[in-house]
Amino acid sequence: MTGDARSRAEVDPVSGESGAVPAAGSPDALVGAASDTIELLRAMIREACVNEGHPGSGQEIRNVRVLQRFFADAPVEMQVLEPAPGRSSLIARVRGTDPAAPVLGLLGHLDVVPVDPDGWTRNPFGGELSDGEVWGRGAVDMLYLTAAFATVLRDVALAPEKPRGDLVLLAVADEEAGGDYGLRWLLNTHPDAVAVSEVLSESGGMRMGEHVAIGAAEKGSAGRLLVVQGTPGHASIPYGARSAAYRIGDVLQQLGAVVPAAQLGELWDAFVTARIPDEDLADRLRDPVRLDAALPQLGGIAGYAYAVSRVTISPTVLRAGSTHNVIPGSGSIELDIRTLPGTTDDDVDDLLRAVLGPLSELVEIQHLRGWDATASGTDTPLFAAIERAVESVAGSPVVPIMAAGGSDARLFRELGVPAYGFGLLGPSWSYERYREGVHGHDERIDVESVALSLEALRLIVADRIG
Ligand SMILES: [Zn+2]
Repeated sequence: MTGDARSRAEVDPVSGESGAVPAAGSPDALVGAASDTIELLRAMIREACVNEGHPGSGQEIRNVRVLQRFFADAPVEMQVLEPAPGRSSLIARVRGTDPAAPVLGLLGHLDVVPVDPDGWTRNPFGGELSDGEVWGRGAVDMLYLTAAFATVLRDVALAPEKPRGDLVLLAVADEEAGGDYGLRWLLNTHPDAVAVSEVLSESGGMRMGEHVAIGAAEKGSAGRLLVVQGTPGHASIPYGARSAAYRIGDVLQQLGAVVPAAQLGELWDAFVTARIPDEDLADRLRDPVRLDAALPQLGGIAGYAYAVSRVTISPTVLRAGSTHNVIPGSGSIELDIRTLPGTTDDDVDDLLRAVLGPLSELVEIQHLRGWDATASGTDTPLFAAIERAVESVAGSPVVPIMAAGGSDARLFRELGVPAYGFGLLGPSWSYERYREGVHGHDERIDVESVALSLEALRLIVADRIG
């Protein structure tokens, strides 16, 4: 199926078929102003820079080339850096006139996660525009923002007056697999090229009640491997043997039965205030003892609420045995553990021992790769600029939120650089809808949301460095 029918969004508002010029600030004018961004987004979706987690995948050079063409006629300084063939990132910069002014980084990734084509009703890499929506993998996560970042950078470059501060687009590879071929590598090997003083990136713009959510924190990750021992033997004579598989079962039962206690901070309070109008329910959610009993009343947002109110533990990979007829003498369980700001490695190990109880004597805890939770304060000039822009474009207050997952923005927060998850999606974009759209089937974004985000972004950039 193709999206041949010209939708309203494809009509140029100035030379449009109706011949009418929409009033500035009207919905049609907003959408018309986003037409370049929409076309750029569609082009980037079609490049299908699918990151499968191995070094040869992604091939983000294709989207780098799309951006290079987009900037071809603008005075933009461009630097292409790659740690491996095809794993390219583009650093695009417009220099400001005042060295003391902020250096605003727009951090957008170029890669997307794989698709299961059977789950899609349209071509996931077609970039179709139909009924005011752009379809395709990456439309929401996060090519629409990368395209909006690029559009604003080009406009700033083409403006007659130079900005005060530098504006830097960091269009990076490999965000979806941890950044070893993208931002992490760039920060390690080319720190000057990616040095910025404040950052806008993804994971924001969802509606929470009357509020627009802006990402101010991300949970951390503290993976663990639980190694258990048993007594091996021939499977035909199990008497006297103690299979490690049984011990894995015991540990899993215990992990499934115990819920880590809630630890509520400022962002939790902000979330409840923004999202829960029912005062009684809100009171229970602010009480760590009564919170869990109230979760089922939260409907589609319950999973998010559970995740950001505590350290979570999810068993993911089990290993025991290698041969059908041998009772395994050892086994292991991988745990995906997500931490809160302030959670230490010792806290995680103590929590595990508490959850496992007497079983912890029989389990060796090994540490897997992880990272700390990160948070940027909301008392920064950039956050204030976001608040003003969102109020101006959408008439809504902002609520800072914690993301349950991680993004490249954390690498800047770790360096002390304030970084926020930005976006300004349309009124129907609840957090739940956003979560479903990201990495799901039939990923797509409406033109209105692209236009709103672009408009707010212009205001923020003008506010900070204009
Ligand atoms: Zn993303």
